[in-house]
Amino acid sequence: MSETPHLNVLAVAPECFPLIKTGGLADVVGALPGALAPAGCDMRVLMPLYPAVTENVGKCKAVHAYDDLFGGQALIIASETAGLNAYLIEAPHLFDRPGNPYVGADGKEWPDNHLRFAALSRVAADFGLGLAGDWRPDIVHAHDWQAGLAAAYMRMSGETRSRKTPKTVITIHNLAFQGLYPARHLAALGLPADTFTSDGIEYFGQIGFLKAGLIYSDAVTTVSPTYANEIRTPALGMGLDGVLNARPEPVTGILNGIDLDVWNPAEDEAIEEPYSTRRLKKKAKNKLALQQHFGLDEDPDALLACLISRLTDQKGIDLVFECLPGFIGKGGQLALLGSGDRALEKLATDAAAGYAGKVGTFIGYDETLSHRMQAGADMILIPSRFEPCGLTQLIGLRYGTLPLVARTGGLADTVIDANAAAVQARAATGFQFAPIDAETLGFTLERALDLYRQPEIWKGMQKRAMAQDVGWEASARQYMALYEGLL
Ligand code: ADP
Repeated sequence: MSETPHLNVLAVAPECFPLIKTGGLADVVGALPGALAPAGCDMRVLMPLYPAVTENVGKCKAVHAYDDLFGGQALIIASETAGLNAYLIEAPHLFDRPGNPYVGADGKEWPDNHLRFAALSRVAADFGLGLAGDWRPDIVHAHDWQAGLAAAYMRMSGETRSRKTPKTVITIHNLAFQGLYPARHLAALGLPADTFTSDGIEYFGQIGFLKAGLIYSDAVTTVSPTYANEIRTPALGMGLDGVLNARPEPVTGILNGIDLDVWNPAEDEAIEEPYSTRRLKKKAKNKLALQQHFGLDEDPDALLACLISRLTDQKGIDLVFECLPGFIGKGGQLALLGSGDRALEKLATDAAAGYAGKVGTFIGYDETLSHRMQAGADMILIPSRFEPCGLTQLIGLRYGTLPLVARTGGLADTVIDANAAAVQARAATGFQFAPIDAETLGFTLERALDLYRQPEIWKGMQKRAMAQDVGWEASARQYMALYEGLL
């Protein structure tokens, strides 16, 4: 049962499922309000009103008007949509553009992204300072660089930090995206020149949106305990390890969860045949449907691996292509869904052409297909070079689709490798590999093929994986503890 709200949190983010999604960030921002509500937290989401959001939005009410928000008029609209309380920034000069929130049709970043996301941060700061009147946050919780200036704007507002000024939290979903812009934009962003220092918003001569968030926020979190440690080292700190280590409190790592209603193999309407641990045999029908969909040989005994990912260097997809001859030669199949880097897209389509009946590729973004793949595959591959948390391995666990993951970040924290001891102890839920290179991935695929030929062990791992808690409950408690600790 939900408690009466005693804590107001404004989540500030550039995307939020189901209004708009390009990756895991949207899933997290969309799921947290529901996860925190039972603990008495009224979390509302502030985000831009892109055209795609307009299509999904329900009843609306204007709560504030700006005469000039970075070059044009803007309206802040409160909306209850898909179970979310959202505040949407209607600023046509910044957000009324087709397609992706970050890039135009040519695949290039919008040239005014610094202004677009400074506007998001500015409105967040104004909320913190009382813009909405009847609803004032106790915590302003920024997600990623796009919301990185919120704490800075609040600090610079001139108001002293009275007891009523909210505390600020920033969550790093991926340190690789930092929002770096030339120093000449300082005045346009409304940032005083004296903030442009190494202990302020300056990052090696540029304005750093994420860095500003790390400097000015009261707390910094990231999305897994292992990633929280990794980013404090030069190897994965992306130049910000010094800033993170200089903070008085270490970065808190709180694992992401998945929405157990959206991802539920027993009630998933997108899939061919619902199944559960007790009716695991029915997963086979989903496998057949997936093989048919991708034009793969209809072979129930082939180990069918899937891959659902942004196609970027981070995700280590190239390593999979290196291992394909060995994997296919030993009876494996691969179904791949993704988009991104053109060279990786070409490798993926070439693989499908080169291994007809064994490899199938769909280039694009398709939420429904991703459900069908998680339901139909035996295994999901996530060979990321780094991975702050990762969601597809959590979905894989829930669907009994064993994750084969690189031992990094949240992947290391959520999958138990099927080494001999773990198999004997009946603890394994998937496969991990390190070092993260093609040779070790190849060996690990062989280990998986070997265990797949031992159906009793494989089935045991599936059932254990499906029983693992991959929801939000535990993490919601940690966020609540963090918020309450700050207040
Ligand atoms: P990231 O946020 O780095 O992209 P995550 O694993 O945290 O990686 O989250 C990715 C999310 O996006 C998952 O929900 C995954 O299912 C989804 N996803 C990624 N690529 C696609 C795609 N091409 N089609 C459908 N869903 C995708």
